[in-house]
Amino acid sequence: MLDGTLRQSFGRIGDNLKMGKVMPNKSSDVTSDIIVIGAGMAGATLSAVLGQKGMKVLLLDPYPSCRPVFKAEKIEREQVLLLRKFGLLKYLLPYCGTVDEVHGAFDGRIFKSGPIEQYGIKYPDMVNALRTHMPPTVEQRLGRVEGIVNNGQAQRVKLMGGKELTSRLVVLASGVTAAIQGSLGMRRRVIKTDQSLGFGFDIAPSGTEQFPFDAVTYYAFSPSTLIDYLTLFKFRTIMRANLFVFRSSRDPWVGEFIREPERMLRRYLPKLSRVTGEYRVISEVDFGRVDLYRVDCDPQPGIVMIGDALQSACPATGMGLDKVLTDVDVLSECIPAWLATSGMSADKLSEFYKHPRKLALDSRALKRAQDHRNLSVGRSLRWRIHRSLLHTKWRMLGSF
Ligand SMILES: Cc1cc2nc3c(=O)[nH]c(=O)nc-3n(C[C@H](O)[C@H](O)[C@H](O)COP(=O)(O)OP(=O)(O)OC[C@H]3O[C@@H](n4cnc5c(N)ncnc54)[C@H](O)[C@@H]3O)c2cc1C
Repeated sequence: MLDGTLRQSFGRIGDNLKMGKVMPNKSSDVTSDIIVIGAGMAGATLSAVLGQKGMKVLLLDPYPSCRPVFKAEKIEREQVLLLRKFGLLKYLLPYCGTVDEVHGAFDGRIFKSGPIEQYGIKYPDMVNALRTHMPPTVEQRLGRVEGIVNNGQAQRVKLMGGKELTSRLVVLASGVTAAIQGSLGMRRRVIKTDQSLGFGFDIAPSGTEQFPFDAVTYYAFSPSTLIDYLTLFKFRTIMRANLFVFRSSRDPWVGEFIREPERMLRRYLPKLSRVTGEYRVISEVDFGRVDLYRVDCDPQPGIVMIGDALQSACPATGMGLDKVLTDVDVLSECIPAWLATSGMSADKLSEFYKHPRKLALDSRALKRAQDHRNLSVGRSLRWRIHRSLLHTKWRMLGSF
């Protein structure tokens, strides 16, 4: 538990955080009930939810704010519901574009339209909004973790530079980097290297001020393009585009798209402008690739993994944030009971990994990743028939 001096220190940290500041490293070590390693969406959301329950959390990250990375840029329906349940959506809304209606389109035609609640937002804005509004019992500290010595009672977290921190529970939310898991003997099983590639850019209409829609999901016509779909959705003042493709990251196509996105869109999605009107790409192209993996191992005492630290998601499925937020929801229900009893045995922590809602979502995310890929580019007879039936249905529903 925390002594009086530290309680006072948390009070001051709370004041600083309200002003959006991050505390620099202190010279002394700190003991906290919970240390969260990594302040991406997983670590920041969990810390905020635990902080709201009055728990003392130490949130570690090497950076004072999220770097300009290209990751999830859309908050989808299930994610909206969870963020609202956590009371955190309100902090993100000022940075969001609102999508009230989305069109599905294929081969130059819209085949369905419907109301929806979605928000477009840059990933760093999402994370930084949460980091700025942390409850006062969450201390944010700069630090890169190099290793953890864990057991059923107290965990020692070693920082680069030699400092050591201790806690009853460590939550590993360090994203795709696998170094910490490796040092603990946890092996990552790669299910698919280069599962999918994502491109992000801003797009504007030619000749008019605004596109006449909030959002369009445009599916590729032919599997030979190796494109899954292009999604256009509102950021605050602009239209954002995310393109997901199933190619190797070493394919020269990638460089060609980054250099000449407009020409490549016209060539590979030639009928897109029938749906959107004439368009221009008005920004540099952001690029990211994702391997599909999962850390398969027996739970270890004192440590739980959440978000990409445990299992990645195919960006094309839009389920990365579903996984992150479900992990937070389930874990934040488990932790109070864990802290109320002595010890942090692997048996106790397995409650999280075996939770039916978590198990169901993790396996759905893996299955959907594989199905998405197969439906877009699979060559077996089964997937060719499936694709052909779907395209026929979309054509029959389609209208100009
Ligand atoms: C190109 C791309 C597009 C995507 N599109 C979508 C989408 O449309 N919809 C969707 O739902 N999902 C999408 N995803 C997936 C989604 O973005 C991720 O699943 C999600 O961001 C994972 O969050 P995280 O907090 O687990 O990891 P991260 O956001 O990577 O956070 C990890 C944090 O840990 C910190 N860290 C790392 N190592 C250490 C260390 N040693 N010590 C201390 N801190 C450390 C890092 O600095 C970072 O802040 C996309 C991913 C990519 C790559």
